[in-house]
Amino acid sequence: MKVVILGGGFSGAVIAKKLDRQKELEVTLFDTKEYFEYSPSLWKLLLLPSYHKHLIIPYRQFLKHTRLITDPIHHVTPECIETEKEKLPFDHLVISTGIDYPIFLKNTKNVFTIKSGVEVKQHSEAVAEAHTILIIGGGLIGTEVAGALARKTPEKQIILVHPHDRLLERNTKAVSRYAKKYLEKHGLQVIFKEKVVDHRSGIFITDTQRRIKADIGIWCAGIKSNPWYMETFPPSVFTERNALKVNQFLQLEGYQNIFVGGDITSTPEEKTAASADRHGRVISENILRALRQKPLIVYKPRKEPMIISLGNGDGILTYPPFVLPGFIPAILKLLVEKIGIKRLN
Ligand SMILES: Cc1cc2nc3c(=O)[nH]c(=O)nc-3n(C[C@H](O)[C@H](O)[C@H](O)COP(=O)(O)OP(=O)(O)OC[C@H]3O[C@@H](n4cnc5c(N)ncnc54)[C@H](O)[C@@H]3O)c2cc1C
Repeated sequence: MKVVILGGGFSGAVIAKKLDRQKELEVTLFDTKEYFEYSPSLWKLLLLPSYHKHLIIPYRQFLKHTRLITDPIHHVTPECIETEKEKLPFDHLVISTGIDYPIFLKNTKNVFTIKSGVEVKQHSEAVAEAHTILIIGGGLIGTEVAGALARKTPEKQIILVHPHDRLLERNTKAVSRYAKKYLEKHGLQVIFKEKVVDHRSGIFITDTQRRIKADIGIWCAGIKSNPWYMETFPPSVFTERNALKVNQFLQLEGYQNIFVGGDITSTPEEKTAASADRHGRVISENILRALRQKPLIVYKPRKEPMIISLGNGDGILTYPPFVLPGFIPAILKLLVEKIGIKRLN
């Protein structure tokens, strides 16, 4: 049976690893990179690009039998994946390409996201040289970036603009308060209830016409589901926000041979590495069950504890209503990183 996995991130890599040794399966993994990348720690590369080697693990190291393809894909249809060179049919497909972090500014010069290690490393020199850095967005990624920079680069002026009235607004108020206090203690300026809407040669303009001069902008505002390669699928498989609708078994709505895992799914839960990993476990189990004609298992979204890093020595562990700030969450987050990478080996 032919299984194709599109995207080898938190969800896809777990699935590929589990299916790799199954003799009955012929597994192919498509990814534009040749390695799994631990994205929750990419902010570390802003100040220490050489750390990248600790955040990646080549697919070949843990996938011995799976075929790897890095060629860009052109289309996905209900029966096959097409690249410029070939048409690859499948019995089961897993879609796990994650989400995009698009920059909603016309002028993106000196503005970048923390989506991939290569991108972050490319800009680390600009970060080192910058006197003023603007962080756009104060959700999980923006707050973690701010925490890392505020503590380690006290000589720089760092400003964070966030459209809501508190940081990390999807968390409890205690979490938001601790993060704000921590950042301000380290000299960072936080501007609430404003959105950066324009950028003209180093001047960022907010929706209240405030003008902020900054050498670089780190875009941490907003995510977008973008399954552009599925243009042959009916509109009924997409939500209003372009996520992929799944049933309780994580099958694409209306397609028993297609599973969807990770951030691109419509499951009602926070888009986190832990959820993507759990999707991966359920999907790989369900593919094996389908092969053995056993009943599929049900995926149940659930709330997970979350650790927000504020640089290397501080953080917040939250599992509402429980909140533990300080040094211990920072250590736990580092442990989670090490385990998250090691478990693939
Ligand atoms: C900076 C940052 C910090 C984060 N911090 C945390 C955190 O602290 N805690 C937490 O739980 N979560 C965090 N997240 C979110 C977490 O990383 C995601 O929820 C998780 O990566 C989602 O897994 P996924 O498998 O859906 O997608 P991803 O892990 O993004 O993997 C998608 C894969 O698909 C590949 N791909 C995409 N398009 C194509 C294509 N067209 N062809 C081939 N391959 C393709 C990509 O190369 C990638 O390997 C963070 C994310 C970022 C970016």
